[in-house]
Amino acid sequence: MDENSFPLKGFGSAAIHGGHTKESSGAHQVPIYATSTYIFDTVEQGVKRFKGEEEGYIYSRWGNPTATEAERKIAKLEAFGLPMELKGILHASGMAAITTLFLSTLKAADKILSHYSLYGGTEEFVNKVLPQSGITAEIADLRNLQAAEDALKKDKSIRLLYIETPANPTIQCVDIAELTAIGKKYGVKVACDNTFATPYLQQPFKYGVDFVIHSTTKFLNGHGTAIGGILLGKDIEFMNTKVTKFHRLLGGNSNPFDAFLLVNGIKTLELRMDRHCSNAAAVANYLSKHPLISNVLYAGSPDHPDYKIASKQMKKGGGMLSFELKNGLEAGIKFMNKLKMCLRTVSLGTVDTLLCQPASMTHYGVSKEEREKYGITDGLIRMNVGIENIDDIIADLDQALK
Ligand code: PLP
Repeated sequence: MDENSFPLKGFGSAAIHGGHTKESSGAHQVPIYATSTYIFDTVEQGVKRFKGEEEGYIYSRWGNPTATEAERKIAKLEAFGLPMELKGILHASGMAAITTLFLSTLKAADKILSHYSLYGGTEEFVNKVLPQSGITAEIADLRNLQAAEDALKKDKSIRLLYIETPANPTIQCVDIAELTAIGKKYGVKVACDNTFATPYLQQPFKYGVDFVIHSTTKFLNGHGTAIGGILLGKDIEFMNTKVTKFHRLLGGNSNPFDAFLLVNGIKTLELRMDRHCSNAAAVANYLSKHPLISNVLYAGSPDHPDYKIASKQMKKGGGMLSFELKNGLEAGIKFMNKLKMCLRTVSLGTVDTLLCQPASMTHYGVSKEEREKYGITDGLIRMNVGIENIDDIIADLDQALK
């Protein structure tokens, strides 16, 4: 199918057909190109490829056709309905994409401005690893736009505004359009981690951001079968030069089998997300009425403190929610141990329902005081609401809460 002669009207169609490169073999599905290197017909051809005068693959750390299929598809989805082309670079993990972003856009003495609720790995890299290279961070509550503007006005060494919305694990949301406008006013690049929302629910490029990151391990893959990440940018020249150089030299390339699983997972993204969202809304409603639950954080619920922001930039509330058990850590452990169908595990974005208790799992090593500063209380449970029958999900929660 030629996307120029038959522009796709629906997101679901673009998820299936978008970015597909027709195979000369006639293969229906993208093949898994299990090859480390590529043969040149002549030395001259090799020279041209190294010089960038001829398109073509050289070495799979630099690029692989199965990865290209995933890159093009996700770029089409993030730009769906927008007047722009994007370049995506597939990575071995979300963290590989995030570290390529930081290292290719920042240098010693530069600073990042970010929100305090972030995926733990990103937070640790920003606060513990980057400072070793002279890159530091200013962490603020970016729901307070004045605080964001004040920070940028005061400190000219801030070169990147990094946001994650909805954020892991608190489901806090920040305003992409407003923060991007503030970032632009001070000449600062803006990057958004869109993992929780996916391009089906939220398109940060619509609001002017420069980069989008995904842990493709999550909703894009959808089935928990592979680790992966992608970094997308709208400045194609910058992506093809600086970012490509760092991606190649850092060596965080994806492998073709994981890229294949990702491509096939994405094809059902729209269907899965609709069901994740309707199930999550029903679970949020059930939990909000339960006497043992003190607080439910769901971006699609009017009770969520950031509901206004979420509904401005997200089509629906997403598949993730957090809730707090009144009786804290012990009550959380008891509840988690009683689950029968829903699974006790970290990660998210899969068709099956997954629950994790940050205080006893992902944030086990973080002091109670530090955790609570970021809203990660003892009784907080993070839930990836899967696409099972909603009656089964609620029945399992109900018996575990008894
Ligand atoms: N961003 C978010 C929002 C995440 O939740 C995660 C992982 O949970 C990552 C990035 C890192 O992704 P990966 O585990 O694929 O490296």
